[in-house]
Amino acid sequence: MLLEVRDLHVEFHTRDGVAKAVNGVGYRVDEGETLAVLGESGSGKSVTAQAIMGILDVPPGRVTGGEVVFQGRDLLTLKEDERRRIRGAEMAMIFQDALSSLNPVLTVGDQLGEMFTVHRGMSRKQARAEAVELMDRVRIPAARERVGQYPHQFSGGMRQRIMIAMALALEPALIIADEPTTALDVTVQAQVMELLAELRREYRMGLVLITHDLGVVADVADRIAVMYAGRIVESAPVHDIYKAPAHPYTRGLLDSIPRLDRKGQELYAIKGLPPNLMSIPPGCAFHPRCPLARDVCRTDEPPLYQVSATRGSACHFWRECLDD
Ligand code: SF4
Ligand code: MG
Repeated sequence: MLLEVRDLHVEFHTRDGVAKAVNGVGYRVDEGETLAVLGESGSGKSVTAQAIMGILDVPPGRVTGGEVVFQGRDLLTLKEDERRRIRGAEMAMIFQDALSSLNPVLTVGDQLGEMFTVHRGMSRKQARAEAVELMDRVRIPAARERVGQYPHQFSGGMRQRIMIAMALALEPALIIADEPTTALDVTVQAQVMELLAELRREYRMGLVLITHDLGVVADVADRIAVMYAGRIVESAPVHDIYKAPAHPYTRGLLDSIPRLDRKGQELYAIKGLPPNLMSIPPGCAFHPRCPLARDVCRTDEPPLYQVSATRGSACHFWRECLDD
């Protein structure tokens, strides 16, 4: 086991009150495994990732409970300098927006090279050679010629490849990619996703792929964890989820993917909006939007029921949902 998040809680203290962004999340990632974490914006998937990376420790966000066990150590108990060492070297993160994550006044060669001069003590010349090699690995054409260019001289897709190269540089055991393709157009999205899948296999690293788009994970993920209102509502191998969701929210997400065989039909949309995290509905947080909701859902919070050895659902009526 590479990473296990246990009963994680994160709160944001704001002037208007306390937003409960993460409310007891648990998931695990094994070596070489890809876990897709799926949910609408505000479901807590990015905040969970930031807590894992240790980049949340800036007010107002605060971890109020739980454990983040990475390679046998609970990261939440480590000192900041130790966490900083782990970041980049042992776990790295890829963000949605490469342009704001890359330094506009440094060439990509210098930025990639810095990973090797700072962390590996290489000379500038060696580091430059490593940068070219990395650019090759993420399939940036003419790497040797382009290594001296600035981020704005690359297309969105190529910039995202540079971000991936930065994350890969020190060959971390885990990469967390937060909506890595959301800002790209559809064809480029597919290429970048394919690249990530390939590299993940090549490097045998664990990958947490955060997305709001169930459509992009089918070919890439081994397992899916679906988040809603800061909790995991369903967790299962990817094929199980596509075959039959065991939670009405997952079903809603599946039914809202555009599909070729349903061309012309109107797309399903889950009714209503995600809850306000300052006043999460009692019982099942999804009940105001759920087509299967009944009285017990408004009062009793569903635990994560064990549906099978590898599958959990936080719905009182998961059986019904599966049979549907
Ligand atoms: Fe819907 Fe009730 Fe299941 Fe929640 S517990 S998802 S409200 S049926
Ligand atoms: Mg996000």
